[in-house]
Amino acid sequence: MQDSRSYTHTRCRTDTTVEGPEFRAMSDPMAGMRSTYCVKCEDQFPVTEFAWSDTNELISNYYARHRKAASASDLWWCGNGGLAVLAGLGSVAGIILGIILGVTTTWLIGLVTGILLAITGAILGLVARETLFSRRIVKRVCGVNDTRMLR
Ligand SMILES: [Zn+2]
Repeated sequence: MQDSRSYTHTRCRTDTTVEGPEFRAMSDPMAGMRSTYCVKCEDQFPVTEFAWSDTNELISNYYARHRKAASASDLWWCGNGGLAVLAGLGSVAGIILGIILGVTTTWLIGLVTGILLAITGAILGLVARETLFSRRIVKRVCGVNDTRMLR
């Protein structure tokens, strides 16, 4: 599997190469990236202005083509809605546990553990979204485990 890919800015005809987490994010049709960076123009532009250098397909068309099978709820879970809800639920659970602890022990212990639990809860929410939702949805919709394999 390739670990990097280049895209061409259609306005200036310059290639920019992405790798690592940037490539992962760019390749994911469900992530719905709206803009990306051009090394020559040194700025962000809408994905409608960029094409994959190897296939010449506009990135916006590539996204549309690979998420044809996605329902509205698939897109919601993979977008910011799912992110906010799961991280939010995790934080609220942490705060509630902190309050319970504050009432049963001292307010300081409750406050400190409440904050720590809220942060842990938010992180667990993010992990749950990645492992339980996003990855499964991407596999079902796009047919691959890793969107970097898509062309
Ligand atoms: Zn450019």
